[in-house]
Amino acid sequence: MTATFMDLKLNESLIEGLKKQGIELPTNIQANAIPPALENKDIIGQSQTGSGKTLAYLLPIFQKVDSSKREMQAIILAPTHELVMQIDKQIKTLAENAEIPMKSISIIGNVNIERQIEKLREKPHIIVGSAGRILELIKKRKINAQTVKTIVIDEGDRLLDINNIGIVKDVIKTTQRDRQLMVFSATINDRAMSISKELMKEAVVVKAEEQEQLNPNVEHLYFVAEQRDKIEVLRKLIASMEPERAIVFINRSEEIDTTTSKLKFHKLNAMGIYGAAEKQDRKKALEGFRSGKVQLLVASDLAARGLDIQDVYYIFNLDLPEEPKEYLHRAGRTGRMGKQGLVLSIVTEKEAELIKKYQNVFKINISQKEIYMGAIAEPGTKQEKKAIKNKN
Ligand code: AMP
Repeated sequence: MTATFMDLKLNESLIEGLKKQGIELPTNIQANAIPPALENKDIIGQSQTGSGKTLAYLLPIFQKVDSSKREMQAIILAPTHELVMQIDKQIKTLAENAEIPMKSISIIGNVNIERQIEKLREKPHIIVGSAGRILELIKKRKINAQTVKTIVIDEGDRLLDINNIGIVKDVIKTTQRDRQLMVFSATINDRAMSISKELMKEAVVVKAEEQEQLNPNVEHLYFVAEQRDKIEVLRKLIASMEPERAIVFINRSEEIDTTTSKLKFHKLNAMGIYGAAEKQDRKKALEGFRSGKVQLLVASDLAARGLDIQDVYYIFNLDLPEEPKEYLHRAGRTGRMGKQGLVLSIVTEKEAELIKKYQNVFKINISQKEIYMGAIAEPGTKQEKKAIKNKN
C-alpha cells in the first residue's frame, strides 16, 4: 500500500499546500525519510535528484520550525548555486501554498556579502547556501548558529568529499550538539557513510527503493532519424497509428513549449504539461488529455512526475533519456494494470548507443524499425525497395 502524506503525520496546512502544487502522494524517499525526520532522528538518505528528496527534508523542517519566532532554525548546505536557488524556490513555493510565514534566504559565495548581511537582519528561519559563505557569516556573527535545530547536507557525496568536508564540519561544529543532521546523497560510498556516522548520534539510513523491472506487457521499438527530422518521423508514426492519446517525452522542461508549437505547426493536436508549479496549465492539459480533447501530451521527466494517467498505450521518446531509470519511468506510464503498451523512441545515431545500454540493463529487446510508405517496417525496407525500383 502506498502511504499518504497524512499517514506520514504531516499537518493539514502542508498537505493542502502540496495539493496546490499538484503533489498528492509521497515519493518513495519521502515516505521513508519523513517519519524519522519528524522524530528528530539523524538521517542518511540515499536518493537521486528528481526523486523528491528536497521535499523529503523540507517538509519535516516546515513542520518543526516555529515560524512565529524570529530565529534561524535550519541550515541547508548545497554544493552549487543552481541547487541553492532551486531549494530556496521550493521553500518559498511551499510557504506560499501552505500559507506558513516561513522566511528563507539563499547565501552563496561570489556575491555582495553586505546585501546578504542586510537580508539576514530579517531573521530568516531557514538559510540555504554554500558552506564557505555561511561559515564566514557565522564567524562575523551575522548568523546565529546556536538556534539552529536542523542541518541538511544536500548532495552529500560532493559536500563530504575531500575538498569540502573541512568547511562543512566547521559549520556543523558551530551548532548545538543536539541538533539534527540529515545527509542526502545520490550514492553513499563507504567514506560518506563513515563520515556521516561520525558526525551523527545515531543514524537512520533510508533509501529510495528502485523499481527495476520493466513491465513484460510493454513492447519497445526505436527509429533512427536526424535530430531535425524527428518531428516529421513522429508525425508519420502518429498518422500511421492514429493513437487516441499518447505521451511525447522530451528531456528538457525548457523545450516543452517549442516542441508543442512545432507539433501544432504539423497539425498535431498537442499540449504541453509543465512542472507542478504552473498548476492551472497543468490541470488544463491533464483534463484535455483525459477527456480526449488533446491527443498528445508533451512532457519532460520532471513535468510528468506524479502524473496519474491510466490507459495510455503509446509512449513516444522524442529525446532518449540519459538515465536507465528515466527510460523505465517513462515506459512505466503505459501497460498499467496488466494492459499492453508500446514505447517508441525516435533517436539519433548517437542516441542509438544508449538503446543498447537499456537493452542490457533491463534485459529487454528494443527493436529497430523504420517508417516506410506510412507504415512501420523492418529496417532496410526503404533501401531494398529503392534498389528493386532502380533495377526495374
Ligand atoms: P527533487 O528530487 O527534490 O529535485 O524533486 C524533483 C521534482 O519533483 C520537484 O519539481 C518537485 O516539485 C517534484 N516532487 C517532489 N515530490 C513530489 C511528489 N510527491 N509527487 C510529485 N512531484 C513531486
